[in-house]
Amino acid sequence: MTIYNFAAGPATLPDPVIKQIQAELPSINDSGMSIMEISHRSALFDDIINAAEQDVRDLMHVPNNYHVLFFQGGGTGQFAAVPMNLATTHKRIALLDSGHWATRAGDEATNLGYQVDVLDSTKDQHYQALPQYDKPISASDYDYLHITTNNTIEGTAYHTIPEHGDVTLVGDLSSNFMAEEYNVADFGLIFGGVQKNLGPAGVTLVIVRDDLVKPVEHIPSILNYSLFVKKNSMFNTPPVFNIYATGLVLKWLKEQGGIAGIQKVNQQKASLLYDFLDDSKLFANHIKKNPIVR
Ligand SMILES: *Cc1c(COP(=O)(O)O)cnc(C)c1O
Repeated sequence: MTIYNFAAGPATLPDPVIKQIQAELPSINDSGMSIMEISHRSALFDDIINAAEQDVRDLMHVPNNYHVLFFQGGGTGQFAAVPMNLATTHKRIALLDSGHWATRAGDEATNLGYQVDVLDSTKDQHYQALPQYDKPISASDYDYLHITTNNTIEGTAYHTIPEHGDVTLVGDLSSNFMAEEYNVADFGLIFGGVQKNLGPAGVTLVIVRDDLVKPVEHIPSILNYSLFVKKNSMFNTPPVFNIYATGLVLKWLKEQGGIAGIQKVNQQKASLLYDFLDDSKLFANHIKKNPIVR
């Protein structure tokens, strides 16, 4: 019997991927060793992590001036890492408070001593709509603007990117990473834990434009972007199994027609549920329908 976990994460993995992991678990690539035992300094793992990076690049059409990095610590770790690495000029961040995870990101930056300006919040509408901020903002005031593309708990999503002037845009894509198409070049940085869509918990993907990666002092090494760039995401022992498993999901995604292909499937699945809710006399969907809200 197969049980499906419909919760946001950790989520269901493709069956062929689970089967492949099962088959390869005692010995990866005829090495006589399990993926859980091999050295992260081996040529075998180099091939695995390099292929995973290339598949991220292919799937998301990542421009060449962006780094693809693998961290641990989840989206939550990046709530700290992003301000520590990027908010170096003004130590001031703009935030669109669209829900629980946006609030958490703002709180972490505030705790670390950065100034967080909430440009707009829909908290008083119980986050049933997205913050709509249309006044100009400027890079002379802010190191970046933080948005949460998909508000996992509340059910709203930015399908188009809000106006942000010349301010660097940081996107928390944790819950719709590769579930729908975004243009990487619209962002200075994208991050997300893989466990919502792309693999088992333990890997955090960061895609960052190279001019934003600068040596920063007095921050933890395991959250230091420039160190991770220099060390090809292997400053310390990376989560070898999780990167391998994520790599298998990326290959599977390619077979589904890439992000465009899976987006179609996702829309069909979403319609099944949302059309039912919209037609129901018993259940009500409170999320406001407009061009940028589901
Ligand atoms: C789940 C989630 C997070 C937190 O991710 P962890 O990997 O558990 O730290 C952050 N942002 C969004 C949008 C999420 O859905």
